[in-house]
Amino acid sequence: MEVVALHNGLLGEVPLRPRIADHGLGPHLHHGEPGAGLVDRVRANTSLGLAAAVCEHGVERLGRCRAVGCDRVYADVRRGPRRRYCTRACRNRSSVATFWARRAS
Ligand SMILES: [Zn+2]
Ligand SMILES: [Zn+2]
Repeated sequence: MEVVALHNGLLGEVPLRPRIADHGLGPHLHHGEPGAGLVDRVRANTSLGLAAAVCEHGVERLGRCRAVGCDRVYADVRRGPRRRYCTRACRNRSSVATFWARRAS
Protein backbone atom coordinates (compact mmCIF):
# COMPACT_ATOMS: atom_id res chain seq x y z
CA MET A 1 0.00 0.00 0.00
CA GLU A 2 1.42 3.36 -1.05
CA VAL A 3 0.46 5.12 2.18
CA VAL A 4 2.19 2.49 4.29
CA ALA A 5 5.32 2.85 2.15
CA LEU A 6 5.20 6.64 2.66
CA HIS A 7 4.94 6.23 6.43
CA ASN A 8 7.74 3.71 6.48
CA GLY A 9 9.81 6.17 4.47
CA LEU A 10 9.15 8.88 7.07
CA LEU A 11 10.06 6.52 9.90
CA GLY A 12 13.28 5.63 8.12
CA GLU A 13 14.33 9.25 7.64
CA VAL A 14 14.29 10.26 11.28
CA PRO A 15 16.41 8.74 14.05
CA LEU A 16 13.75 7.66 16.55
CA ARG A 17 15.95 6.44 19.42
CA PRO A 18 13.16 5.88 21.97
CA ARG A 19 14.13 6.28 25.61
CA ILE A 20 12.44 6.87 28.94
CA ALA A 21 12.87 10.41 30.25
CA ASP A 22 12.03 11.77 33.67
CA HIS A 23 12.52 15.49 34.11
CA GLY A 24 9.88 16.27 36.69
CA LEU A 25 6.88 15.01 34.70
CA GLY A 26 7.15 11.35 35.64
CA PRO A 27 8.58 8.67 33.35
CA HIS A 28 7.56 9.14 29.69
CA LEU A 29 8.91 8.31 26.27
CA HIS A 30 11.16 10.64 24.32
CA HIS A 31 12.13 10.06 20.69
CA GLY A 32 14.95 11.44 18.59
CA GLU A 33 18.65 11.72 19.12
CA PRO A 34 19.59 12.94 22.61
CA GLY A 35 20.30 16.66 22.29
CA ALA A 36 18.48 16.89 18.94
CA GLY A 37 16.99 20.25 17.97
CA LEU A 38 13.30 21.06 18.08
CA VAL A 39 12.67 20.33 14.40
CA ASP A 40 14.20 16.85 14.60
CA ARG A 41 12.31 16.06 17.82
CA VAL A 42 9.04 17.19 16.25
CA ARG A 43 9.79 15.09 13.14
CA ALA A 44 10.52 12.03 15.27
CA ASN A 45 7.37 12.38 17.39
CA THR A 46 5.16 13.27 14.43
CA SER A 47 6.30 10.36 12.25
CA LEU A 48 5.84 7.94 15.14
CA GLY A 49 2.45 9.40 16.06
CA LEU A 50 1.19 9.20 12.47
CA ALA A 51 2.40 5.61 12.16
CA ALA A 52 0.64 4.70 15.42
CA ALA A 53 -2.58 6.35 14.16
CA VAL A 54 -2.41 4.36 10.91
CA CYS A 55 -1.88 1.08 12.77
CA GLU A 56 -4.51 1.69 15.46
CA HIS A 57 -7.23 3.49 13.51
CA GLY A 58 -6.58 2.78 9.82
CA VAL A 59 -5.15 4.91 7.09
CA GLU A 60 -8.60 6.19 6.09
CA ARG A 61 -8.77 8.08 9.39
CA LEU A 62 -6.03 10.48 8.30
CA GLY A 63 -7.14 13.04 5.78
CA ARG A 64 -7.16 16.49 4.31
CA CYS A 65 -10.04 18.82 5.10
CA ARG A 66 -12.60 18.94 2.29
CA ALA A 67 -13.70 22.50 2.98
CA VAL A 68 -13.07 24.91 0.12
CA GLY A 69 -10.08 27.10 0.92
CA CYS A 70 -8.81 24.96 3.81
CA ASP A 71 -5.61 22.96 3.47
CA ARG A 72 -5.40 21.52 6.99
CA VAL A 73 -4.98 17.84 7.68
CA TYR A 74 -6.50 15.85 10.51
CA ALA A 75 -6.17 12.57 12.38
CA ASP A 76 -9.58 11.21 13.27
CA VAL A 77 -9.21 8.90 16.27
CA ARG A 78 -12.85 8.93 17.37
CA ARG A 79 -15.21 6.02 16.99
CA GLY A 80 -18.16 6.46 14.69
CA PRO A 81 -18.56 7.89 11.21
CA ARG A 82 -15.52 9.10 9.35
CA ARG A 83 -14.65 12.72 9.64
CA ARG A 84 -14.22 14.84 6.50
CA TYR A 85 -13.34 18.25 7.92
CA CYS A 86 -10.57 19.52 10.19
CA THR A 87 -12.90 21.36 12.55
CA ARG A 88 -16.57 21.89 13.28
CA ALA A 89 -16.18 25.41 11.84
CA CYS A 90 -15.11 24.00 8.43
CA ARG A 91 -17.90 21.41 8.52
CA ASN A 92 -20.51 24.07 9.28
CA ARG A 93 -19.15 26.47 6.64
CA SER A 94 -19.33 23.68 4.03
CA SER A 95 -22.85 22.71 5.07
CA VAL A 96 -24.02 26.30 4.70
CA ALA A 97 -22.31 26.61 1.29
CA THR A 98 -23.93 23.36 0.12
CA PHE A 99 -27.33 24.56 1.34
CA TRP A 100 -27.07 27.85 -0.56
CA ALA A 101 -25.72 26.14 -3.69
CA ARG A 102 -28.66 23.71 -3.71
CA ARG A 103 -31.10 26.51 -3.10
CA ALA A 104 -29.67 28.56 -5.98
CA SER A 105 -29.93 25.72 -8.48
ZN1 LIG B 1 9.82 14.95 28.30
ZN1 LIG C 1 -10.72 22.77 7.44
